[in-house]
Amino acid sequence: MSRQPYLTIDLDAIASNYKLLRDCAKVSNCAAVVKANAYGLGAERVTNALLDIGCKVFFVAQLSEAVPIIDRIRSAGGRLFVLNGLEPESLLDFVSLGARPVLNSLRTVEYWLSAAPSAPFAVHLDTGFSRLGLDQKEDRAVVRTLSAGSAANLELVLSHLACADTPSHEKNQQQLEAFQNRSPRFRAAQSSLANSAGIFLSEAYHFDLVRPGLALYGGQPIRDRTIDVRPAFVWRAPLLQIRRLKKGDSVGYGANTIAQHEMAIAVVGAGYADGLPVAVTNCGTVCINGATFPIFGRVSMDSFTVNVSACDNPEALVGAWVELIGPGNSLESQSARTGQLSYELMVRISDRSHRIYAKAS
Ligand SMILES: *Cc1c(COP(=O)(O)O)cnc(C)c1O
Repeated sequence: MSRQPYLTIDLDAIASNYKLLRDCAKVSNCAAVVKANAYGLGAERVTNALLDIGCKVFFVAQLSEAVPIIDRIRSAGGRLFVLNGLEPESLLDFVSLGARPVLNSLRTVEYWLSAAPSAPFAVHLDTGFSRLGLDQKEDRAVVRTLSAGSAANLELVLSHLACADTPSHEKNQQQLEAFQNRSPRFRAAQSSLANSAGIFLSEAYHFDLVRPGLALYGGQPIRDRTIDVRPAFVWRAPLLQIRRLKKGDSVGYGANTIAQHEMAIAVVGAGYADGLPVAVTNCGTVCINGATFPIFGRVSMDSFTVNVSACDNPEALVGAWVELIGPGNSLESQSARTGQLSYELMVRISDRSHRIYAKAS
């Protein structure tokens, strides 16, 4: 078989990152956000690894993401919440799977209480994100509806921070105060505000449960600060060929990247079909045998090109594995150079890259 891009995933690193985040959150419980196939790293393997070390609460975005993992979670005594909420047509699936919807509106709270009066759920408050969640003016009506129905099944009230990656942003304190004011009204069993970055704002943000995603997977959640999480994956692709360019030769589609002098170019076997964004064209880097080289020329569907002119003997690189993201070319440095979110760089890595689990179960 031809060689193709692959992702090596270190489940031990994810487990150790979980323990670090759990210890940071001290008295609070620590959940795991495994939406988007655990940010591309494989929701089933990640969930199993985290269940093994005692994680009991998981979040996905969509109900379909619950299907492959909920049996394991439930048989380990855990719970799974679905962030995108409830639509009437998914009610029966929620109930039969035993997944908990995170309800976002008065209408869906009413619907859930009447259709599934004994089934647990969560409520999401919008404290300034203007995305999902109850508006403050809906609080009173929802509280009234809850007290008339089975409020005891309200396991969690949560909200989500818009600017936790920027600790000095005034929005953090505003959202904290809004959540401190509003969340007690609902008398939920637990409350939750912090994502990965929120854990590091201060203890006030921890409440009963924290909900990290990115930091579990070794991503750095906060600008201008490095936390001690371990990178959990390496993404590599094969170096297929070396080309020699003359001054004036163009590279790739559009022919608008031009060699300004003689150059050696490496052709790497991964492209946007593998999830390498076209936006890394002429600004991203890769690491080959420990050295960093710039991406040169527009990223194609299945390949891209790298300027390896700085290498003494470029032809000797043929057959090497090129690190697209990993210890030699970190998610954060690629993100900073290219302006792509680290989240997006991760979740775009497509199924065409084999997932190889280096350690643990
Ligand atoms: C995605 C998400 C998280 C996890 O965020 P990270 O920044 O990856 O830690 C937590 N809560 C909600 C509501 C989310 O949508």
